[in-house]
Order: sequence, then C-alpha cells, then structure tokens
Amino acid sequence: MNPLEIKRYPDDVLRRECSLVDRITEKERMLFEKMVSTMRYFSGIGLAAPQIGISRKLIVVDVDEGLIKLANPVVFKTKGLGRMDEKCLSVPDVVVNVERPEEIIVSGLNEKGRAVEFLAKGLLARVLQHEIDHLNGTLIIDYLTLQGKVRRGKGGAR
Ligand code: ZN
Repeated sequence: MNPLEIKRYPDDVLRRECSLVDRITEKERMLFEKMVSTMRYFSGIGLAAPQIGISRKLIVVDVDEGLIKLANPVVFKTKGLGRMDEKCLSVPDVVVNVERPEEIIVSGLNEKGRAVEFLAKGLLARVLQHEIDHLNGTLIIDYLTLQGKVRRGKGGAR
C-alpha cells in the first residue's frame, strides 16, 4: 500500500475538531490500515486521521507494545506528570518538550467496534495523548512557552 500524504502545519485540517465516529465498518478498518502503513512508511510511532486529511476521531499507535487502533479515544483518568521531547510528522524538524500525565486510562472503540478501556504508561501514554491532541486540533507547538525549548532534530516522529 502506498503511503498517504502527510498534512503539515499550517494546514487547516490539523486545526479542526474532528467528528466522532458512529460505527466501525469495513471503511473505517480500511482507513486504519492505511494509517498504519503510512505511519510505518514514515517511521512514526503514532498517527491521527487529520494528519492524512481526514477530520474524524481515529488514531493508530505502535510503540512496540502491540499495535493500537482506536476510534473516539478519550483520556478519563490521569496520574503523575512528566516531560519528554516530542516530534510530529505534521510539524517537521521541530522538537518540543511537553509536560503530560505519565499514566492515563483511555477509552474508545477498537477496530471491531467494541468499547475498550485500558491503562497506558510511559511512552505509550505519551503517544496516545499526542494523537488525541490531534483530534482536538492541538499541535506540539501549542505547548511552547516563552521558556519553552525548540530544537531541530530527527527521528521518532509521530
Ligand atoms: Zn503529531
């Protein structure tokens, strides 16, 4: 499967609130597959639908703890706070040190359309939150403050 084009800042689609997914059908499963192959092609560890120009609440994440495909993901419980450098395929060559909860409980629909909920920690929790931000039109550059650091870097983009 050929990779899809990655939308880049300041594309409007990256700033929209995505719409909820009513039902997981073959169409959504195909979309998940395209998102996964695009994420892998660009060596990403996560991808959200708006990054390929689709304004719907769908994300894929793979941090070597098993591939996750989620529709309508919501973080409903958090614990701790930590900082980590983040990159984004839609904001190339920018690294932002972002503070986020270290542990989260996430709910959503899996690719079979079943409601799921699970605990995520560390890198997995971080990438899930990064992708969920995309569904709300939030980008890593929004975490920049006057004291924030921006550096150029490569690899590990999502
Ligand atoms: Zn991103």
